[in-house]
Amino acid sequence: MKGKQMEKKGILTVVSGFSGSGKGTIMKQLIEEHPDTYALSISATTRAPRTGERHGKEYFFVSAEEFEQMIQEGELIEYAQYVNHYYGTPKDYVQKQLEQGKDVILEIEIQGALKVKEAYPDTLLLFVSPPSAKELKDRLVGRGTEEESVIDMRLSRAWQEAQGVENYDYFVINDDLSECVQQVHSIIQNEHARVGKNQVLIETIRTELKRFAKGE
Ligand code: 5GP
Repeated sequence: MKGKQMEKKGILTVVSGFSGSGKGTIMKQLIEEHPDTYALSISATTRAPRTGERHGKEYFFVSAEEFEQMIQEGELIEYAQYVNHYYGTPKDYVQKQLEQGKDVILEIEIQGALKVKEAYPDTLLLFVSPPSAKELKDRLVGRGTEEESVIDMRLSRAWQEAQGVENYDYFVINDDLSECVQQVHSIIQNEHARVGKNQVLIETIRTELKRFAKGE
């Protein structure tokens, strides 16, 4: 058990999903239920805050110039443009949390997800979807945070993103929120049992077994 704890490195998970899929709510609940297990990365963006959003909580809200400087200084793991704005993942926080054994979640769109997978091939890619396209549209209109023209752009972006779902490891349907949160939690925690994630422990057991076999 001691060896297992020593080795525990965090799992890096990317969660993507159509705008309006409810992925933000799922992540919020997951972290509320397991605050010691998960760390949610906070992205930088050039889009304006929505009502209730705070700098450093939902996002780091920055100007286009500040964002471009972050790119130049190599501070981002990845970045992408989404409906006229930049979004990117700061590197420092993610690396520190993983080293401390936290399971880190990035809630980012598909282009960014693929870049993260390139940089960190062990990344678990999870796609969240509402049960139907109609439900997605109703949720986007119902939440009332975007104008009609922006909703149309987000729906057309959703169609594009739907073409890339096969790049992901898991497809999770967000119909019942708590069931979905439980499913996401199980998927991520199961990753810790992968052979590749337990190499140090496996070597330790092998060495001990060899000693036993020699009668030591
Ligand atoms: P929203 O404006 O609704 O908060 O986010 C729009 C999209 O940008 C969502 O699909 C969200 O997952 C994605 N996004 C948020 N942060 C990042 C990021 O750091 N990098 C990338 N590539 N996408 C992000």
